[in-house]
Amino acid sequence: MDFTRRHLLCGCAATALTGCVSQGGGGQIRAGYAPSLDSAEGGLWEIFNKAEADLKFSPLRMTDEELNRYVTDIACRLAGKHCTDMRVYLMRTPFFNATMAPNGMMQVWSGLLLRCQNEAQLAAVLGHEIGHYLKRHSLQRFEQMRDNSSVAAFLGIAIAAAGGGALANLPGLVAIANIFAFSREQEREADGVGLELMVNAGYEPVQAAEIWRGLIAERDAGLTLEERQDQKQQRDVFFASHPAPADRAQALALQAAAYPGGKRIVGEDRYLAQARAFRDTMMQDELRLHQYDRTLVIIERMKTANPGDADPFYYEGEVYRARNDGIDSGRAMNAYGRALELDETHGLSWRGIGILHRRAGKQEKAAAAFRQYLELVPDAEDRLMIQSYVGA
Ligand SMILES: [Zn+2]
Repeated sequence: MDFTRRHLLCGCAATALTGCVSQGGGGQIRAGYAPSLDSAEGGLWEIFNKAEADLKFSPLRMTDEELNRYVTDIACRLAGKHCTDMRVYLMRTPFFNATMAPNGMMQVWSGLLLRCQNEAQLAAVLGHEIGHYLKRHSLQRFEQMRDNSSVAAFLGIAIAAAGGGALANLPGLVAIANIFAFSREQEREADGVGLELMVNAGYEPVQAAEIWRGLIAERDAGLTLEERQDQKQQRDVFFASHPAPADRAQALALQAAAYPGGKRIVGEDRYLAQARAFRDTMMQDELRLHQYDRTLVIIERMKTANPGDADPFYYEGEVYRARNDGIDSGRAMNAYGRALELDETHGLSWRGIGILHRRAGKQEKAAAAFRQYLELVPDAEDRLMIQSYVGA
């Protein structure tokens, strides 16, 4: 699938909707709360209820039951008595983002799932978004907005989104995220709530800082030195709407350290057990963005989280094979080889090796590698094409 206008529509609308408008009005929301329909807050909820009705049928939704249950259960453990006030939607959109709408509609994008190293990191992001909900930050923002033209812009976007209107592409997402960004104070507050929810649910709070460190490393890998020095270079949806990641990582690390030590959940293995079945697809979506330097950072973090896992080496091979710059073919070959050392049944790595040999004109070697692939992955989607390469 490509991530052009049409495909980004829902995620995009969602960003506008969620990230932006949450709940305002001061004070923590009570469990089971719903505003009266004739209030401004009620009107705001109504817009998002409509958007949510559309979102349920979005082609971008990841509908796997087990994965949905896994993420929803984490959100529920974090939210406690507010569990039933929120709904989590997993969306196939290859950027790091999660959003929370005022009515409790939370979106988690696949780009975020790809980047989490463990369950605690996912819990950190979910906890942060729940924090926006509990503190009714969207409503606060909306109330601050009422006097200026942002309201018109906001309503236009919300209605377009609710009715399946047109908003898409990355710059569009960033622009929208900017308009509706939460204030620095609100972000800090959501971070604080998120940490507390994490600790109450038994998670290791240090992981909250770790995910930001990963994002910073990834962003820096994709920028030239010049761009890195230019603070205005904010090409990421998430960075555009969330302030100063370095300060944030540091503040979170300090706060996390203040919690008493103890045996807490990090959950590398159980996160991998859930995410593994979807990672190949999420990585293919990531590769279509052609941001190879950044993708390599994501892969390095996967290796760190699960050192015995063959997949990250296979992904590394895929990055180099796709980039095909200078000595990338050799790099790709090494990476596939490493994946096969860790797991000799890693059929997709044989596929990559076959393509590299074929590209180099080594037909016999290519055929041998493709045969290995077809033997290990008997139901391969590209079986017919590969068979034609092998001449079988
Ligand atoms: Zn936030």
